[in-house]
Amino acid sequence: MNVGQIVLQLPLDTIQQMKATYSRAEKPAPPGAIFSAKTPSCSITAYKSGKVLFQGKSPETEADKWGSAPSGPKKPPGPKAGVKDHTHPGHKGPAGLKPSVNDHRYAPAPALFTSSHIGSDEAGTGDFFGPITVASVYVDQSQFALLKELGVKDSKLLKDDAIQRIAKDLMQVELPYSLLVMRNERYNQLQQRGWSQGKMKTMLHHHAIQKLLAKIDPTKPDGILIDQFQLPSTYIKHLATEGEKLQQNVSFMTKAESHSLAVAAASIISRASFVREMDKLSKQAGFTIPKGASAAVDQAAGRLIRTHGRQALPVFTKMHFANSAKAEKFV
Ligand code: MN
Repeated sequence: MNVGQIVLQLPLDTIQQMKATYSRAEKPAPPGAIFSAKTPSCSITAYKSGKVLFQGKSPETEADKWGSAPSGPKKPPGPKAGVKDHTHPGHKGPAGLKPSVNDHRYAPAPALFTSSHIGSDEAGTGDFFGPITVASVYVDQSQFALLKELGVKDSKLLKDDAIQRIAKDLMQVELPYSLLVMRNERYNQLQQRGWSQGKMKTMLHHHAIQKLLAKIDPTKPDGILIDQFQLPSTYIKHLATEGEKLQQNVSFMTKAESHSLAVAAASIISRASFVREMDKLSKQAGFTIPKGASAAVDQAAGRLIRTHGRQALPVFTKMHFANSAKAEKFV
């Protein structure tokens, strides 16, 4: 058989798109590969280095959809050129780029972003004061235009007052969502029991999604996308320690809020809740409690201790942060 081959160097996000595109034609991938697929015209193997090998009777049929080979003399098809390469013992795939954090089998298919799906995101995890809030939101395909109209986008690009306004609008359009708030006392209890913040976030996302799935039942989302805060394998491991399993059709992706309107809406609802909680804490303290974990935060913590005593710390703060110790010089 006449075997031709084309090698393309492609960015990892293109490779993830390819993986999704060829998901129905996927076959077991050799070690070091991201995926392998077989189409009528050729077989395709993508490596973590970004190299993608197309080989078969007409590799250009698929290769031309994704990129063009570097110019220069074409490699002769040559007998068995590279054909057995990936089965060679000890062959680990072409060396090169380190696999990215999104280089895993839980990456979302790009089609998910335009279908009816659940997005999940959290706020407050890097702030010394205040709770962790997690929101999961279900967005039906038919609501995408409306959400864009309301200004839904990555909450990091929005000021807190815009976030509050959009969050209110989202309540008006009755977007199905669930919101969980883990206040500081609970956070500190679990932390002292040995829970990492990653485990707390895992369980919060898991339960928020569970509640939302029950809420929208019998509607089934086309998928669930969690804004990735740790490796999916770690998320799954944390679930297992609590006897829980990953729901069906869950994907993970970093910066998901800039790709998915559902995650963007979740980022807005969770952030708006965090801001409300901080307002409550400020009232309780009698002065403005700052967000974040900066030097201003250390000073405010010192002031809190001066005015309310050290026993206020577990109620207002994530005590294991370095800010606790730094606050002492302001007491
Ligand atoms: Mn996030």
